[in-house]
Amino acid sequence: MLLDRGFIRLSHGPRENHTRPAIDPLFRSAAIAYGPAVVGVILTGQLDDGTAGLLAVKDRGGTAIVQEPSEATAPSMPESALAHVKVDYRCTLEEMASIFVDLANDDPVPTGEVQLDELIEVENRIAEGIFTVEDWWKIEKLSIPCGLNCPVCRSALYEIRDSRMLRFRCRAGHAYSVESLMAEQADCRETQLSGLFGALTEEATLARRVRDGPTYRERDKLREGLNAKIARIELESDQVCGWLRALTGLVQPDPDER
Ligand SMILES: [Zn+2]
Repeated sequence: MLLDRGFIRLSHGPRENHTRPAIDPLFRSAAIAYGPAVVGVILTGQLDDGTAGLLAVKDRGGTAIVQEPSEATAPSMPESALAHVKVDYRCTLEEMASIFVDLANDDPVPTGEVQLDELIEVENRIAEGIFTVEDWWKIEKLSIPCGLNCPVCRSALYEIRDSRMLRFRCRAGHAYSVESLMAEQADCRETQLSGLFGALTEEATLARRVRDGPTYRERDKLREGLNAKIARIELESDQVCGWLRALTGLVQPDPDER
């Protein structure tokens, strides 16, 4: 979901922080469309979504408001915003209402100081899904290769040149904050481990079927070999299960607590 002057636009651009609609491209588009009139508000939420967008709001002269993390159900998003953005208001939800009224009644004051304009505009075109090869060359000029690959499309990831916040974009346009990239990498590892578990189970299933079939039923030596193979695969499967449990933090429920 993006803003244009007088319009709300739904786009099919690349996902940002594995999400669409996402808060960062929304804030970026609002900053371009309305500049100093924008009030960006970060409330409770997981990871660090919203920080990059709030920086764009500030760059274009807008106002940044962040919920007091101690009262947030999930303080991660407000904490990230406070760590990276010079916010105008850090306040509770109760205090926020009167601030909104005051801001709505005041005319926005243009600040004049605008940074990273070209980057904001190119990133907005990426979010709109209308970026071109020329836009990519601009992104490449404003970023450096980081030696990592996008967990979604496996194309090269580039680190955006912005000393205020570490973030990344791939050649297909997927964008990540640090927290979202780490979460995506963990998801990728979970998918690969699940695939490995599936491959081992299939191998064991075939070996069991062959062992119990007519060809091997009377051939003890061959059955012994298959039994050893099955035992080895099942041992490896248990190891993979352990890695998956460690990754996802899942534990066997305690029967007494049911
Ligand atoms: Zn990608």
